[in-house]
Amino acid sequence: MESVQKKQSLVERDRQNVWHHISPYSEKNPPMVVEEGKGSWITDHQGKRYLDGMSGLFCVNVGYGREELAQAAYEQIKKMAYVPMTQSHGPAIELAEKVNEMLGGDYVIFYSNSGSDANEVAFKMARQYHQQKGEGTRYKVISRYRAYHGSSAGALSATGQALRKYKYEPLTSGFLHVAPPDNYRKPEGMSIEDYNIARARELEETIIWEQKETIAAVIMEPLITGGGVLVPDPVYVEKVQEVCNRHGVLLIIDEVICGFGRTGKAFGHQHFNIKPDMVTMAKGLTSAYLPLSITAVRKDIYEKFKDGKENSHFRHVNTFGGNPAACALALKNIEIMEKENLFNRSAEAGNRLLNGLDDLRNLDFVGDIRGLGLIIGIEIVEDKLTKKPASPECVGGLIAACKANGLIIGKNGDTVAGHNNILTLSPPLSSTDDDFDFIINVLKKVFHEKVN
Ligand code: PLP
Repeated sequence: MESVQKKQSLVERDRQNVWHHISPYSEKNPPMVVEEGKGSWITDHQGKRYLDGMSGLFCVNVGYGREELAQAAYEQIKKMAYVPMTQSHGPAIELAEKVNEMLGGDYVIFYSNSGSDANEVAFKMARQYHQQKGEGTRYKVISRYRAYHGSSAGALSATGQALRKYKYEPLTSGFLHVAPPDNYRKPEGMSIEDYNIARARELEETIIWEQKETIAAVIMEPLITGGGVLVPDPVYVEKVQEVCNRHGVLLIIDEVICGFGRTGKAFGHQHFNIKPDMVTMAKGLTSAYLPLSITAVRKDIYEKFKDGKENSHFRHVNTFGGNPAACALALKNIEIMEKENLFNRSAEAGNRLLNGLDDLRNLDFVGDIRGLGLIIGIEIVEDKLTKKPASPECVGGLIAACKANGLIIGKNGDTVAGHNNILTLSPPLSSTDDDFDFIINVLKKVFHEKVN
């Protein structure tokens, strides 16, 4: 009895003291207080278990409760807890080598703490690089509508989701947006390939109209993830790289969600025939057990920062980036992924989920089901013919019904009002076959109950 009371008071103390991220205050529906996790399952303070079909925020790639990860951090903290990255340490060096190898070589690694940080670093590096090449007029960054790149000023400026931004504007100047390919909503009668080529051409036209000598970089995810799971045709990504090369613009690939197996390969951009100038990563790097992020930069770009001229170095520091325990943990995390073959598992399990959910396409309110590896989007519509997005109440109702049945799913980020209609699934890559069956069964039950 006493412990029930104590646990109830936890919710009340939370209500009194904690301001939650991006969640509207709700008296009726307080945030879950989570106590523990094992594999793909989490348990709340009242003992109710849920399958975490979102891996937290697309990040706990190896699942919860991995003692080896705790051990790796513990050992490192005992040995050497902190070294600023103005100096160096073994785990940072080893991790840089490992990530570079996973990227196919030719990169140097800059450490920070979060995905937003990694993107800010990329923008600063891009601007300084052009300056040091004698092209100091290049400062603009182009990204895509619907993409999310982080919450700090520059990363939020690059974000193409108006609802997240409009109360904090004006943000940083010099950020422009173009539309991404959304193959579900392409013009009637146009092939997917032609449509994707046309979208890449729009990007090129933007660069030209803006005066190419003002453009520093394009940043994009391999596929738009949190913004609605928009998987491009490979031709789009390859054309974007071609366009960037043609106009002297750096291509930054944001792998914050896609990296470390989420899409069925080590990195999402490895589905395409491209070699980015910079790659940013976070979440899956440590499976979110500790904060750590990376901006990987091609060595030929790095060369411009070490030409021996006064002030050529990159004037950026952060206290926690490259924390030794986080680096040691990241190495162990990658070792687990490789030992358990989780990148292939992600590819296979993604197909299994898509096949298992295929029947749902026949329902009137299911416009599209799509994904790559273990990132899947289900577009909920009012009407299949007009593709009118379903109401927030309808989408929220489906998410709540899944939760009542023990499954946590998400929805796309705050794009613009009326367009937050894409349910997202992104379970841990280590989920078992039973976990995947559970996800399929709950979604089928909830969707069919909505019809009846
Ligand atoms: N980039 C992408 C694609 C993301 O999804 C996110 C976070 O969700 C970020 C950047 C920002 O990462 P963080 O929340 O670690 O700052």
